[in-house]
Amino acid sequence: MALIVQKYGGTSVGTLERIENVAEKLIGWRERGHQMVVVVSAMSGETDRLIGLAKGITPRPNPRELDVLLATGEQVTIALLCIALEKRGCPARSYTGSQVRILTDNAFNKARIQAIEAAAMQADLDAGRIVVVAGFQGVDEDGNITTLGRGGSDTTGVALAAALKADECQIYTDVDGVYTTDPRVVSEARRLDRITFEEMLEMASAGSKVLQIRSVEFAGKHNVPLRVLSTFQEGQGTLITFEEALEAEQMEKALISGIAFNRDEAKLTILGVPDRPGIAYSILGPVADANIEVDMIIQNIGRDGTTDFTFTVHRNDYERALDILRDQASRLGAREVAGDNKIAKISLVGIGMRSHAGVASKMFQVLAKESINIRMISTSEIKISVVVDEKYLELGVRALHEAFELDKAA
Ligand code: ASP
Ligand code: MG
Repeated sequence: MALIVQKYGGTSVGTLERIENVAEKLIGWRERGHQMVVVVSAMSGETDRLIGLAKGITPRPNPRELDVLLATGEQVTIALLCIALEKRGCPARSYTGSQVRILTDNAFNKARIQAIEAAAMQADLDAGRIVVVAGFQGVDEDGNITTLGRGGSDTTGVALAAALKADECQIYTDVDGVYTTDPRVVSEARRLDRITFEEMLEMASAGSKVLQIRSVEFAGKHNVPLRVLSTFQEGQGTLITFEEALEAEQMEKALISGIAFNRDEAKLTILGVPDRPGIAYSILGPVADANIEVDMIIQNIGRDGTTDFTFTVHRNDYERALDILRDQASRLGAREVAGDNKIAKISLVGIGMRSHAGVASKMFQVLAKESINIRMISTSEIKISVVVDEKYLELGVRALHEAFELDKAA
């Protein structure tokens, strides 16, 4: 008998029929002797619809109230799934985030989980019930409803698996695993049987939308075996595992495991800021204080006592970041602030990169051959990212996928 946490995404619970299908699957798992905890997302499109309602009133809804609104999406699906389970004679109980007491910090719209009370869920499991938990939501110390950011149900799943010491966390979605890149962009993209946490983390941070990045961080940190599978297709999916486990199985390390991309970025530049200690802090400090995540950062070599400073943020945060930057620019006596929200980022990811030189130069060569101008470059040990004009995104990804032969099994 295993304790398994499964998470079903919005498409998997997008209609009543699909919710009933999930109920059937869960009963199958339970009949095979497993204890089941299920995390569900809102029905597909629901979170967007709710955001649309709020934005129909004001472009910047109050974050606390937005969370009260968004949390309703998942509350609908937990109840419907339990109703479907009970109809089939299977005891089940639903929990909202605050009923579990998934304690988070108070950063509305992107809260972080701090603690989970497992006792009530464990008691339900021991009594033979299926436990159904609303994804994406929690409660802060003061009892305010919080949400975990888009895709946050993945993190709920992983966090519950960690808290309950589950044997595996299975993320059911509409794709059958993690691919070398998005198959909608490159039809030759291939499903990976395994990928390391490190690579998955880089893929997620670089824009691969299969899993929310925090869920991968959380799983890596707490040693939660994580598997991505399809709700609609049988299969083993993709196991996200440790490098040591791959080595133990003597798996060949691919040079490049995948290509991630992200068109949700925007870049901001502050030109002609005084080149002196503390400048990076005075630019990025207020951005961080506004809870805006910064991705790439580039500071140019100083000339004549001034320098230029460029960074990227999520496109949704562009206007706010621009306001902050303009403010700082006048305070610091900078020459100018410029921005571009029609950019995209392409990233090559692979642990094999560590022991192979020449990946970056090959990447640049491939892009040059397609006449794609590179606007920014950043690298880590196992990732190389470039920012290009958004209109070249697909072309760049296809060319790189082919050049690095990702369509062929390693
Ligand atoms: N329903 C939320 C969203 O669409 C959370 C999730 O599905 O993971 O982002
Ligand atoms: Mg998702």
